[in-house]
Amino acid sequence: MSVAIPGTGISHGIAIGPIHRLIDGEIEISEAAIPEELIENEVARFRRAVRVARQQLKVIRDSIPEITRADITDFIDTHLLMLEDSMLTATPVELIRERQCNAEWALKSQRDALAAVFDEMDDAYLRTRMDDVDHVVSRIQRILANEGADTQPQDSEKLRGAIVVAHDLTPAETALLHHQGIAGFVTESGGPLSHTAILARSLGLPSLVGTHFTPYQVRDGELAILDAVKGRLLTEIDADTLKKYRRRQREEIKRQSKLKRLKNDPATSADGVHVELLANVELREDVLAARRAGADGIGLYRTEFLFMNRSDIPDEEEQLQQYLSVLKALKGLPVTIRTLDLGADKNCGGEQRSDHVAPNPALGLRAIRLCLKHADLFRPQLRAILRASAKGPVRMMIPMLSSSSELDAVLALIDDVKQELQRQRLAFDLNTPIGGMIEVPAAALSASLFARRLDFLSIGTNDLIQYTLAIDRVDDEVTYLYDPLHPAVLRLIKMVIEAGRTYQIPVSMCGEMAGDTRYTRLLLGMGLSDFSVHPTALLEVKDAITRCEVARYKPLVTDILDSDDPVKIGGLLKTLNQM
Ligand code: PEP
Ligand code: MG
Repeated sequence: MSVAIPGTGISHGIAIGPIHRLIDGEIEISEAAIPEELIENEVARFRRAVRVARQQLKVIRDSIPEITRADITDFIDTHLLMLEDSMLTATPVELIRERQCNAEWALKSQRDALAAVFDEMDDAYLRTRMDDVDHVVSRIQRILANEGADTQPQDSEKLRGAIVVAHDLTPAETALLHHQGIAGFVTESGGPLSHTAILARSLGLPSLVGTHFTPYQVRDGELAILDAVKGRLLTEIDADTLKKYRRRQREEIKRQSKLKRLKNDPATSADGVHVELLANVELREDVLAARRAGADGIGLYRTEFLFMNRSDIPDEEEQLQQYLSVLKALKGLPVTIRTLDLGADKNCGGEQRSDHVAPNPALGLRAIRLCLKHADLFRPQLRAILRASAKGPVRMMIPMLSSSSELDAVLALIDDVKQELQRQRLAFDLNTPIGGMIEVPAAALSASLFARRLDFLSIGTNDLIQYTLAIDRVDDEVTYLYDPLHPAVLRLIKMVIEAGRTYQIPVSMCGEMAGDTRYTRLLLGMGLSDFSVHPTALLEVKDAITRCEVARYKPLVTDILDSDDPVKIGGLLKTLNQM
């Protein structure tokens, strides 16, 4: 009987391989008195370690393949910049001289002092930047503890095909490990929105984060199975389980290559219902992945990622260049640029606007609320999106709308920005479609109010489910309540689709529910005809669509929508998916 260790699966897929434990940060650091005549030697030892750390990071950066370079190197450059900063270079030197102590102790003291400062910060995002400091400090400590080691942190041969198990991995380490051919990784800490998780998804690396177990609980070299689909690591596997997973792995490889053949086929059901199949993107590489998967365009471009992982705010020009580069990569396909959805669990370094700490950030100043309050943050983005519309098909999408007064305010602001651009003779498309995300129950219940005044709607089920069922989407304690099939959720979705039909505007779905093929028949039967999904799910959804006979599903879908009984709904869905 195998042992299953649960966690959050990041990239779809299965990895089978020997465990390779990466245990770091365990270095015992104690204070040692350094005789006066050796103080300058100790300073030189510390400086050498910093130099080696820099060299290691540069080696890592240069070893990253071109295609993934742009986004990953941002993470590595942050760490390189920290290695230039006096807080990590000059201050420890002062401490060695003042206290006449060893380099390790000086660095640890400075790290603890910085941690105290970070702890005091109100901004949740900035507080998490202490992770970066820790990553850099632990790199220097490892070098100090292991002087003379080469710049390759791990033995490449042992890593090829292995499932790496660690307390935590930095994005830089993840990139290097991927390059060294690991099959997947598991980390004790980290959530699905961490930089490492984002990177793993972009690299298509099966991974599991937040397992809350220590790497000491697994044995080095033991054959294990990482099932990122089900979110678990299987150890002590028996022959039957191994056989089953090997078969699943082979089938998956075959399935993926078959799916690729669908790339240029239209997303049309067996009975002729045409679906607009779009992609959700965050990073530049996602745009290329979307094109490789044959997406009809981008249905959700989460622009906040451009604002994260940095201490300043990108100005209008930088945003414009970014949007133009996405348009260029899309070669004429449309892009739906979502305006900033900062707040709640997504913050940026430059976004701290007041000392106020939201007691419940998901219900606080988030997304459009934050943007309307801070026009200085919002206007440059509106200008950049509109200016990009002069060069290609751009749609603008507003997240988290909840009331008509908010809609009035945002439409007035967009009009004002348009007039300003006209006065400045800056080109833009006057008819840029403006759409809204329906992710608050109040907005779904009054969807016609939004449908009447907007050019399109998009259902954000991730938040719609969170707010309808009152469960924090980032709290794993309540994940079990997250249910797209809850009768209340289904009825709200139906209301939004109906409102779109009444006012003859397109309605898409861009939440995770759209990318889950268990719901494809149900959603098509409910009348949804635009789906926006992560590029890795796109061909799978297309495959499901082409097998559908939508008209035949209508009676069963009506039964599902009429039911209040979750068990019955589950049973009916099963029947629907077997039809
Ligand atoms: C959603 O809420 O469904 C959505 C697509 O937006 P995000 O996941 O970025 O909040
Ligand atoms: Mg959302």
